[in-house]
Amino acid sequence: MFKMQNIMDLSREELGQWLEQKGIRSYRANQIFKWLYLKLALDFDSMTDLGKPLREILVKHFTMDSLTLVDKQVSADTTEKFLHQLSDGEFVESVLIPAKDHFTLCVSSQVGCAMDCKFCLTAKSGLKRNLTMGEIVAQVREARAYVQSKGLEPLKLSNIVFMGMGEPLANYKNLIRAMAVILDTDYGMKFATRRVTVSTSGLVPKIIQLGLDTDVNLAISLNATDNKTRSRLMPINDTYPIEELVGACKKFAMKPRNKITFEYILMAGINDSEADAKRLVRLVTPLRSKINLIPFNEHEGASYKRPSKESIHGFLKILLDRNMTAIIRKSKGDDISAACGQLKAKQATP
Ligand code: SAH
Repeated sequence: MFKMQNIMDLSREELGQWLEQKGIRSYRANQIFKWLYLKLALDFDSMTDLGKPLREILVKHFTMDSLTLVDKQVSADTTEKFLHQLSDGEFVESVLIPAKDHFTLCVSSQVGCAMDCKFCLTAKSGLKRNLTMGEIVAQVREARAYVQSKGLEPLKLSNIVFMGMGEPLANYKNLIRAMAVILDTDYGMKFATRRVTVSTSGLVPKIIQLGLDTDVNLAISLNATDNKTRSRLMPINDTYPIEELVGACKKFAMKPRNKITFEYILMAGINDSEADAKRLVRLVTPLRSKINLIPFNEHEGASYKRPSKESIHGFLKILLDRNMTAIIRKSKGDDISAACGQLKAKQATP
């Protein structure tokens, strides 16, 4: 059966070329992009400056509804989690996190994940498939439309973190293609590079490539300071051990004032000792870095435990006393399973 293409799977150049093949001037792609990504049009018919014949051609060849919102949950802390169904029936989640004057969207890059990190709920389902470029940008488009529906300026959604389901660097091509739309300041979504962060479990070659291809921020899910512990928690460490990971961070091309974020989940008795804190300092000292300590978020079937408040603050103090930039990142939305490592994207069974 002829399957219509999602228009958001095309770059601006590709759409321009497609139009030219139909005898239509390629600059129309710029107008269509503005409708899709800035004016958040709901259908082709509302793209009024295109002319009816062009609108009809678009309707005939393209869809623009690669995601269907099937559930929305609101946390007591006002974090909101969206469950989207994809056109093949799979599900992904994105999480909208409010701050004082802006929103951050936590975006998914894959259905499930292949990295098999032992502490993460998303890992349990394994990898189903990569998200397409269009499915990645559609999460952002939907969230901006939602912000607008609250009577707020859609550009208030100004920050994106690729910390949802999946390993973004394992879906590198589509990540970079989506990034082009997200960062397009003329016709796309107009996000500032310093407000976009890609988080990785540590795919070394792709980390270096990301620095060459973009100016976005890098976050590394470090989670342990020795290879034995890290390999036990994160199998990717067998392929790219800590020394190689730190080496890639050193090579990561970034603007002079930028810092690499190191995410470090604190798990009682696993990686929260004084010796761990001191090793962490030694590891990141050669880098321009900041450390985000994430107290472990419990989920169904998890055997790890969050350390006590005292022990979390003790760990932080060791870092701060040694002049590290470090914070405790309180995960938002844990009451609706929207916090770090809690995304599963299963429809609740009635
Ligand atoms: N695959 C990428 C993107 C996901 S980011 C990556 O690993 O970076 C998700 C973040 O949540 C990671 O930093 C991960 O270490 C953290 N995380 C996973 N499970 C968690 C849990 N149960 N509690 C707290 N943080 C968790």
